Amino acid sequence: MKHPLLSYEAALTRLLDAARVQGKTEMVGLLQAQGRILAAPLLSDCAVPPHDNSAMDGYALRCADVAAAGTRLQVAQRIAAGATGSALQAGTAARIFTGAPIPPGADAVVMQERCRADGDGVWVDELPRLGQNIRRAGEDILQGAVVIEAGRQLGAAHIGLAASVGATQLLVHRPLRVAVFFTGDELREPGEALPAGAIYNSNRYVLRALLDQLGCQVTDLGIVRDDAAKTREALRSAAAGHDVVITCGGVSVGEEDHVKAAVEAEGALSLWKIAIKPGKPLAFGRVGEADFIGLPGNPVSAYVTFLTLVQPFLRKRQGRRGANMPPRRVKAGFEWPRADDRREFLRAQIDEAGRAVLFPKQGSGVLTSCAWAHGLVVLAPSQTVAIGDEVQFLSVQELT
Ligand code: AMP
Ligand code: MG
Repeated sequence: MKHPLLSYEAALTRLLDAARVQGKTEMVGLLQAQGRILAAPLLSDCAVPPHDNSAMDGYALRCADVAAAGTRLQVAQRIAAGATGSALQAGTAARIFTGAPIPPGADAVVMQERCRADGDGVWVDELPRLGQNIRRAGEDILQGAVVIEAGRQLGAAHIGLAASVGATQLLVHRPLRVAVFFTGDELREPGEALPAGAIYNSNRYVLRALLDQLGCQVTDLGIVRDDAAKTREALRSAAAGHDVVITCGGVSVGEEDHVKAAVEAEGALSLWKIAIKPGKPLAFGRVGEADFIGLPGNPVSAYVTFLTLVQPFLRKRQGRRGANMPPRRVKAGFEWPRADDRREFLRAQIDEAGRAVLFPKQGSGVLTSCAWAHGLVVLAPSQTVAIGDEVQFLSVQELT
């Protein structure tokens, strides 16, 4: 009997259900926090801004003192950013600069371009509105508010926010320790000679870059020959002291595919035939304390499988929360008349008209298609496409 393929959704659910969140945490300084995953919500000890302040260089005044444009007020004080003023007396204005605290009693700031300085006074040439050009205390962040939610990957703006509330350190999840190796007697490293029958180990560089982007701490065991004992040995050392082991190639059932048997001998394995194209086989299991993921060897299959299945698993495992950007809907600038019973991920660009167009060669060995693509058009099983139809599109930027 033909084994039914696992649907993409079912495979993703199984992976996410199996993803144990990295429980170990550590404190890091803000300048070390880039790319890390926040482990506890960051609460603000203060309001941002901490005081009402001027959004402009100009004059702080009381609206009640300016009955009409063209009123002259006495300039009784000068408040620069970093200074504090005193209570504004009726009939007076304060010369004020951007970021300087609004003096008590003032209820508007008129920008200097709408005023004329005149000795110890100023002509106010517009009728001020209550609250105009005043940035209120707490306008950005209220004291006690959640500034960053747990599970967020910290980017430039998050780290800036943390600094704006005076945080010096952040509690983050420890990076996942991921061990990788690459199986295949045909593989050589760039820089080595390429004898007949050999190819370069391109998957290593794809995978390393993807894991770096995720913020994983990688141990790279390099190329492992197609040999049962060597594969088992590599698996054992990969599992020791790592959270996840990722291998590439050798997960099919050919005579030279040793990963499956090695994982079964050293741990436990489920080999899934998933209804996706490219990338049908994906191996998942455990070796010792480590999760095991076996990627297919074909470069495009490995890339697509990583982005669409392994990456969501690793993200949850890292402690990230929150959904990814949902796929966009775009118009197809291509035809896809022959339906496949698997979910297809087609390498595509968005053209100037905003339509998805396909790389002409969609073979699972054509890595050029991945470098060229802006993203992946996702076709549901048995979906056909006519030009102008709406299709789902996952941008690589959003995926990575
Ligand atoms: P496998 O999954 O080992 O049967 O490999 C499937 C195909 O992918 C074969 O054509 C391999 O030569 C190729 N391949 C396997 N591993 C790599 C790798 N690390 N880099 C580039 N191509 C690979
Ligand atoms: Mg192989």
